[in-house]
Amino acid sequence: MLKIKNLSVYHGYVQAIKELSFEVREGELLTILGANGAGKSTLLGTIAGLHRPAAGEIIFRGKPITGQKPERVVRQGISLVPEKREIFSTLSVLDNLMLGAFHRYRKNKSVLRKDVEDILELFPALQGRESEKAGSLSGGLQQMLAIGRGLMSRPALLMLDEPSIGLAPLVVREIMSILVQLKKTGVTIVLVEQNTKSALNVADSVLVMERGGITHSGNSQDIIADALIQEAYLGRA
Ligand code: ATP
Repeated sequence: MLKIKNLSVYHGYVQAIKELSFEVREGELLTILGANGAGKSTLLGTIAGLHRPAAGEIIFRGKPITGQKPERVVRQGISLVPEKREIFSTLSVLDNLMLGAFHRYRKNKSVLRKDVEDILELFPALQGRESEKAGSLSGGLQQMLAIGRGLMSRPALLMLDEPSIGLAPLVVREIMSILVQLKKTGVTIVLVEQNTKSALNVADSVLVMERGGITHSGNSQDIIADALIQEAYLGRA
């Protein structure tokens, strides 16, 4: 569904992504692991159109999307839930969700309402809190809201940048199980994490990044069984 070919991305003189290639298959959950500074956020941001690659190609559902603007990438069916969540804390939960759908529903308010209902079904913990200020929610609920907002554009591919950061293990597991549920509805998922074991447990396949390149790839069972990866990345829940 998504093909990355020989991608190179710079921040000024720093090469954050080095001739990187991989594929994401339709319907799978791919976890990308890697330490701080490995280039994971840059990779997701480049796919989402936030950074322009110096070289290489990004092909989504057979069409090149390399270098397209973020709004256009969203319209093609790719949504990014960024690391900092970027929730508007003074706005309500409902308004935050609606912002995720800014380019749709200009006319059809009933479709909008239905989409909000569908998302709240996936996140029962947000139900009844639609009019609360997003900033008053716990970290876990804010992360759920950020994912919910990402889903409002009805993406075929949802990318999440370290959704478990700062959250308690129990909340992390809840979020992972929501991702599994989401995958069952047909959404393809790319999940970036630093060292969270539960992100491996829910993965179909795994990539490990180091210094802008891929050092390991395989199915999740093989990666879990790899002792060196265990030691380097799997310290946490
Ligand atoms: P983290 O988990 O810390 O977000 P990461 O794996 O997502 O790490 P990136 O944030 O993509 O890694 O960073 C990759 C490299 O690019 C690092 O060397 C980082 O210092 C550098 N970098 C990232 N953003 C910028 C920027 N805006 N300007 C300059 N260098 C940057």
